[in-house]
Amino acid sequence: MIVELFINLCVLVALIFSYLQFRWNTLEEKLPNRTLIWIDGIAGGVLGNILLYFSITVSEQTLVDLRQIPIMALLLFTGIRPAAIAALIITGGRFLYGFNLSSFTSVTFMVALFLGFWLIHRYCQHKQKILHEALIMLLYANIVFTITITYLIRDLEILMFLVPVYWGISFVAGLSVIYLIHYLRTSHLLFKKYQEQSMIDYLTGLNNVRQFSSIWNRLIERAEANQEKLSLLFIDIDHFKKVNDTYGHQAGDLVLQQISELLMKNTRNIDIVSRNGGEEFSVILKDCPQTEAIEIAERIRSAIERYNFFIGSWETIQLTVSVGVSSYPDQDLGQLIESADQSLYKAKENGRNQVVSSL
Ligand code: GH3
Ligand code: MG
Ligand code: MG
Repeated sequence: MIVELFINLCVLVALIFSYLQFRWNTLEEKLPNRTLIWIDGIAGGVLGNILLYFSITVSEQTLVDLRQIPIMALLLFTGIRPAAIAALIITGGRFLYGFNLSSFTSVTFMVALFLGFWLIHRYCQHKQKILHEALIMLLYANIVFTITITYLIRDLEILMFLVPVYWGISFVAGLSVIYLIHYLRTSHLLFKKYQEQSMIDYLTGLNNVRQFSSIWNRLIERAEANQEKLSLLFIDIDHFKKVNDTYGHQAGDLVLQQISELLMKNTRNIDIVSRNGGEEFSVILKDCPQTEAIEIAERIRSAIERYNFFIGSWETIQLTVSVGVSSYPDQDLGQLIESADQSLYKAKENGRNQVVSSL
């Protein structure tokens, strides 16, 4: 019996690990939260039924397993609704193994378990210490189990062996599973945070150059495949070095942040604004022809020219930018970056504070 309960634990850990990887790497990106609640609940229910399949037959009709653990884990990590869905599926699944006193008692067992878990979760919530809450839930589940199994088996010799073994394995399995999920979830959240940070410019919150490149490569492939128009603006602040030299680096940083806000305000939601380096920015204009791109570039240039940049201690300064524009299909997709760069260079050469396109 110890071996069989241990198999239950291994099945639990292996399936939870695989499901969480699938959920985080595939489902989470594609599905809304509402659907995920259902999928979590159904996954918990299926897991409970798999545990039923690996359960230990104690007497002719009585099955012992760790079905309480998926419900507890769902309640602790996702909420009441997925836990309720899982409890319903597990209760229904128990009837696949026969309609008898044990299967009907398992309905009462599940109702008592679910209500108890829910009350514990509601009133003894240790937000920082999920393991404490799990411990109380497992203690409660073991007490409910002991009462149910005593009612079903009524054989002191079996009970004297079964109950302590069950308590031991239930505690070890429950706490291991909760620790495993907690650990995996923390690692996953940290990984996601670092992944996001590696794509975002820390000062302005815009895309950084790495993210710009990856989006750019995706978009030129799409533009070529669908014959979509695509435009690119390269924007460089004029004489920015002077701002740093005159007012200090901190004032320069404030200016970069305000320029970013102006760029976001003067572009559409679907456009991609990035800080490509120091005081150089870019805007990718999806599905936008050259003439419209020049208008947008001009709008950005004039908004920046008119803006009073706050540089601390009530002082404001005025600045200008130069913009280089390139567009597909007017130019080859592979030439767009170089062409926008050359146009920007020309704008600087022609006296700055202007938009230059390759047309
Ligand atoms: P031009 O009109 O030719 O573009 O002149 P410029 O002075 O803007 O260009 P230059 O390339 O000579 O200088 C860019 C300056 O941008 C130099 C550097 O100190 C400053 N810079 C780059 N990154 C940052 C930053 O993160 N914060 C601040 N405050 N300044 C930065
Ligand atoms: Mg500059
Ligand atoms: Mg520059």
